[in-house]
Amino acid sequence: MKTAELFKNKTVFSLEIFPPKPDSDESVIYNTLDELTDIHPDFISVTYGAGGGKNGCKTIQIASDIITKYNTLSVAHMPCINLTKNQAADILDDLTAHGIKNVLALRGDISKDTIPSGDFKHASDLVTFIKEHYDINVIGACYPEAHPESNNLNEDIKHLKYKVDCGVDHLITQLFLDNRYFYDFKDKTLSCGINVPIEAGIMPVTNKKQIERMVKMCGVMLPSKFVKILNRYENNPVALRDAGIAYAVDQITDLIAEGVSGIHLYTMNNPYIARKIYDAVQNLLSQPLTYAENS
Ligand code: FAD
Repeated sequence: MKTAELFKNKTVFSLEIFPPKPDSDESVIYNTLDELTDIHPDFISVTYGAGGGKNGCKTIQIASDIITKYNTLSVAHMPCINLTKNQAADILDDLTAHGIKNVLALRGDISKDTIPSGDFKHASDLVTFIKEHYDINVIGACYPEAHPESNNLNEDIKHLKYKVDCGVDHLITQLFLDNRYFYDFKDKTLSCGINVPIEAGIMPVTNKKQIERMVKMCGVMLPSKFVKILNRYENNPVALRDAGIAYAVDQITDLIAEGVSGIHLYTMNNPYIARKIYDAVQNLLSQPLTYAENS
């Protein structure tokens, strides 16, 4: 099944995981999946090492196991900046051979340690390549507060429109902590003719250092309400975890009430947190879509 079909009748709820580090115990990810698939998410996406590095084979294996062992739809992430067309074709052939029909086509972050191959400059180049050669459902990344390399949101949305026109079937946002950025972004995408479903990427924050790193890397604004939580509970991990869950539930409740197409939860491989959030919002997710949301 292709993820784009999921949005026809319901508010989609999906999860993201990352593969284990090369030298860590591989079985841990399967314990995590045992618990995450018990939530019955609409799909689980599996990240791919920065820039398309060596973690790729694990991404493919895990995405394949999610389908065959857990009977759950999976999405494989695929950054392209360091790939040649031949390397991209090898990965896509491998994905197809493993029955994976959904790919999150990404540019990847440009690092000073790796030289871009030159075949794919933007994610849209990979989207075009996939749509020309494969029967694969393509997902794209988007940024409610603008991608950090963009001069402004309007410029970023202009590039996003081009990426969608190359064949993106649905979009997933980077995390954001203030829903107003998402609503403003959604209005702007609609007015420039981007009509594919946009899932809101929600990251439950449970660690002050983690969020400070993300803010620096992704250019995400920290609302004052959120900063107060971080400061109050930074030395109390259990309280910070619970406050992070409550904050994410609050964001999701508001997004669903506003008719969001889907929620993509960045689980950080933590099934306890994913379960708590799911339990709090599952009845909201099952509310049928209105005619306007469905059309
Ligand atoms: P693009 O769509 O290519 O955009 C990147 C920048 O280039 C933007 O500023 C855009 O405005 C600009 N741009 C795009 N097209 C043009 C054009 N034609 N002309 C000029 N400028 C243009 N990274 C990983 O390495 N592995 C992962 O698994 C991973 N998963 C992710 C999942 C999600 C949901 C998100 C939001 C991000 C993920 N990333 C991942 C990070 C991502 O690789 C980085 O954010 C990267 O910097 C941009 O990728 P992109 O696909 O959005 O790039």
